[in-house]
Amino acid sequence: MPVINRIADFAQEMTEWRRDLHAHPELGLEEHRTSDVVAEKLKSWGIEVTRGIAKTGLVGTLRAGTSNRSIGLRADMDALPMQESNDFPHRSQNDGAMHACGHDGHTTMLLGAAKYLSETRNFDGVVHFIFQPAEEGLGGGKIMVDEGLFDRFPCDAVYGAHNETTLPVGQMVAVAGGVSAASDRFWITITGRGGHAARPHRSIDPVVVGAHVVLALQSLVSRRLDPLDSAVLSITQFHAGSAGNVIPDEAVLNGTVRTLKPDVQDAMESMMKSVVEATAAAHGATAVLDYRRGYPPVVNAPEPTERAARAAARVLGDGKVIRQRPPGMGGEDFSFMALRVPGCFVRIGQAAGARGSVPVHNVRYDFNDDILPIGASFWSTLVEQELARGE
Ligand SMILES: [Zn+2]
Ligand SMILES: [Zn+2]
Repeated sequence: MPVINRIADFAQEMTEWRRDLHAHPELGLEEHRTSDVVAEKLKSWGIEVTRGIAKTGLVGTLRAGTSNRSIGLRADMDALPMQESNDFPHRSQNDGAMHACGHDGHTTMLLGAAKYLSETRNFDGVVHFIFQPAEEGLGGGKIMVDEGLFDRFPCDAVYGAHNETTLPVGQMVAVAGGVSAASDRFWITITGRGGHAARPHRSIDPVVVGAHVVLALQSLVSRRLDPLDSAVLSITQFHAGSAGNVIPDEAVLNGTVRTLKPDVQDAMESMMKSVVEATAAAHGATAVLDYRRGYPPVVNAPEPTERAARAAARVLGDGKVIRQRPPGMGGEDFSFMALRVPGCFVRIGQAAGARGSVPVHNVRYDFNDDILPIGASFWSTLVEQELARGE
């Protein structure tokens, strides 16, 4: 693999860092140990560290030469509230938390670049290594921006990366324009009237109403939206009842909506409200939709995307960088950074047969350590290219 030789030399060390992080996953805004580990490594390489941005977030700043040009590189650090099913030695030691999205690998790749760049300093300008908490739902990226990230650490451009389990090792994606979806959440509270399960006519059963609501909502995308528009509506939780012979008073459903266009996002919210309320009313119940807008879509700016693609091609070779493809329906809070500073979010392939191809957010997922040197080389090459000396 044409990665930077010096980085290939410490690939084993990076694997150890990554597996240590994997074994000690921490949920959003609680990444205390992770933040300590990152800060300690950055300091040991002589990198200036600023902590406590978005609670557990931190920024490492490395300067070389005299130029004021600056670049921001972002990694996320949080794990998911899941129970890991893997049984390898570095499996999660924290019950109910798992690095099932590879943020342990993202953190490690950026640390690898920080180590290399602090040793070589073959650039002229300022690099900000941004380690953010809470990507998975709590919007750590937004909190960092709101707490003045780019005022305190001005960046000419900002870049982020995510592993991809359907893309082979040795390939990357750098696509201009929209690459992720708007990611919203909703809660539906259905209120009926509880009672004895043997006398349903004296109750209003919120479980049956909830079942109708689930099915009615599944017709919105298939029957109400323009087929050429994209949306996802997934109901992921349905909570009601506590006994086999009791009709409960209430049922609570929740889930997520993903859309690519603002008008489709507006339409989904208003159609959901009317379907939820009217379906409940048709059964004599009431229902309230609490719809909360989450992450906006990540929109990659043309110039940073061009530069990221160039750096990726230097590491992986021409023809290994995908430059055009449709957006995915996942959400990413890198969007909040890319809304403030021109940015690009790239994907790094990690599939090699069965290795690295278990989907993210699966209980058997693991980050593929083989791509640690690729990611670290990509970040380092991007810095040496963008902050090239003698310009
Ligand atoms: Zn994720
Ligand atoms: Zn992720």
